Amino acid sequence: MRKMSLKTRLVLLHTGLMVLVMCVMFSLLFSISSNEILSNVQNTLEERVSKSMEDIEYENSRLEFDSDLMELDSGVYLSVYEEGSTELLYGKIPYGFSYDLPFENGRIRTISSGATDYYVLDMTFPIENYHPLVVRGIVSITDAERDFRYTVYLALILFPVLILLTAVCGYLLSRRALLPVSQITKTVQKIQKERDLSKRIRLGSGSDEIYTMAKTFDELLDTIEAGVKREKQFTSDVAHELRTPISVVLMQCEELLNGGHLDEERYKEVEVIYRKVKSMSDMISQLLLLSRADQGREKLNLEALDFSELGQMAADEWKDIAAEAEISLEADIEKGLYLMADQTLMIRLWSNLLQNAICYGKKGGHIWISLQKAGENIKMSVKDDGIGIPPDALPHIWERFYQVDPSRNSESSGLGLSMVKWIVEAHHGQISVESELGQGTEFICVFPALPQGNSR
Ligand code: ADP
Repeated sequence: MRKMSLKTRLVLLHTGLMVLVMCVMFSLLFSISSNEILSNVQNTLEERVSKSMEDIEYENSRLEFDSDLMELDSGVYLSVYEEGSTELLYGKIPYGFSYDLPFENGRIRTISSGATDYYVLDMTFPIENYHPLVVRGIVSITDAERDFRYTVYLALILFPVLILLTAVCGYLLSRRALLPVSQITKTVQKIQKERDLSKRIRLGSGSDEIYTMAKTFDELLDTIEAGVKREKQFTSDVAHELRTPISVVLMQCEELLNGGHLDEERYKEVEVIYRKVKSMSDMISQLLLLSRADQGREKLNLEALDFSELGQMAADEWKDIAAEAEISLEADIEKGLYLMADQTLMIRLWSNLLQNAICYGKKGGHIWISLQKAGENIKMSVKDDGIGIPPDALPHIWERFYQVDPSRNSESSGLGLSMVKWIVEAHHGQISVESELGQGTEFICVFPALPQGNSR
């Protein structure tokens, strides 16, 4: 039951309740009606027999019968006898009914004849100057019950039709009632998928519980959006404020290192400071770029870019750095691949991926970079045979400041891959990663290629 949708549950509940109510109602109605019909038949019989004497007269030493006695009014057969004799004087009895049935004055009896049950009532009436007469009334119970049974059959046919109608109405009603709920769910799913906090449910005006919930939800989204905006602004402001003093410290360190006035010990100390401040400065510029991107302020300088040439340049530049870490770098780059891209961001993309491949590679290991045409796209791959990423960490590596293990790289910030992801997506590309712990990692980016004719 819990796995069913709310709509299905409501329809089942509603229909089940209807079935129950109808069952109780029909059985009550049938039992009451059945008794009522039989007592009506008895009343009619009694009335017909007791009024029958109005149609019999004894005049001029002769019995005279009105033809009304012959009529099957309300299904009652009337027959007249002299008391003590079963010889029919007037009237009629149902076909096949026994003429010899003994008389019983004033009591309604049930008599079966063939396949039919009858109520029989005998009444004796005194006649002035003549023998008392007995009037017998006979009425078929089976006929009355048959009529009632038809009503029951009709009800039984109507019953499933009514239930079906109830279920359909219940479905339509609950769908209508739950429409705002599915609208709320769709909006929330959209917010989650598109990461767009500016979306609102906006159900319109209404005052029921669901409308109130949607309104509260929209207000909550207002608060969250404002909070996120404030946080982004704060990050951007902090990064901005720190940039100038950090550049000054960096410049001072460079001057000290290049000045030639430091003894060996001081030189080493300043070098450590320089390295730390340098990674801090890198972090701040990445943070600034990301927060500008969040606020939609980072404009891409798009141009038709020779991606093959850029890849080759990155390979050449990073080959030496990799060699210093005793890692060999091999490049397999298809020539003449163009895309619409921001050159500075694409350089950063190569740098971040290659820096990681070296940083998390192993001595004597390898890095393979490749750039190939794949249909309408360009497939870029940076692969290493380094330490790899544990499977449970893989979904989180794109998050800001996430580091699998900070002790892996003391100078890292955890911003590199979030920057990479943003760059790829800003160029309408897709990025994926495959990694096995202890075996290596491969990052694959796919970008829409520029047709060769548009490249220059
Ligand atoms: P960091 O500045 O820490 O390198 P990134 O965002 O670039 O931050 O990477 C996030 C985490 O992903 C890193 O902490 C690192 O553990 C892991 N990672 C990234 N690239 C690789 C790789 N090529 N091999 C193994 N682990 C990697």
